[in-house]
Amino acid sequence: MTNDTVTLDQLTGWLTRFRDLVTDQVSYLTELDSAIGDADHGSNMTRGMGAVIEKLQASPATAVDELFKGVGMTLVTSVGGASGPLYGTFFLRIGTEAGPVATLDAPGLAAALRAGLGGVVARGKAEAGDKTMFDVLAPALDAFDAALVVSSDISSAARAAHTAAQSGRDATEPLLARKGRASYLGERSIGHIDPGAASTALLFQALSEILDGE
Ligand code: ADP
Ligand code: MG
Repeated sequence: MTNDTVTLDQLTGWLTRFRDLVTDQVSYLTELDSAIGDADHGSNMTRGMGAVIEKLQASPATAVDELFKGVGMTLVTSVGGASGPLYGTFFLRIGTEAGPVATLDAPGLAAALRAGLGGVVARGKAEAGDKTMFDVLAPALDAFDAALVVSSDISSAARAAHTAAQSGRDATEPLLARKGRASYLGERSIGHIDPGAASTALLFQALSEILDGE
């Protein structure tokens, strides 16, 4: 399927699919966070995204900014760990950048995601190679932008972003953590995939799948 724009329904579908993926993979995310953290990343993500989808089902959003601002607020308020404010700020900034529209075109979605990344950096100060969700978000968005130079099809850009996200996730394994709880472990953080990097890869899997109509 090709898409020149993405609708409010598809964006809501993206979030629902992300909820489904973190729920399916809760044990995997917990296992990763047991190795270099406090074993709560799986439960943080499932609780947060569960609350997000429950609220959306009770009162569906009527515009893209409303959708993502609501998602961001719910995550900030319902998730205790570092990932709540980080994912929360990501979605809040997406909403602010998108504005009160019903659809986003490819450049609009790219700009919104880029603003989201800016929010993560403003909040957590992570840089490339710190072994965080940044190491998935940044290369995924670079791949998304690069694909849009070749074609305005959002589906293929999302597939490219998902591929880059998986590589970014895997590339966190040999890194030494410099941010967050894992950084307390120093050298012992080496040899494990970062849990937030793994959940962020699922975010791009969800986007790619929803745009492919799966
Ligand atoms: P906590 O670390 O409070 O237990 P989680 O386990 O839910 O919270 O989330 C941990 C993830 O958050 C890490 O794997 C990492 O990807 C991400 N993270 C932590 N600190 C930062 C930061 N400063 N910048 C970006 N991402 C971060
Ligand atoms: Mg944790």
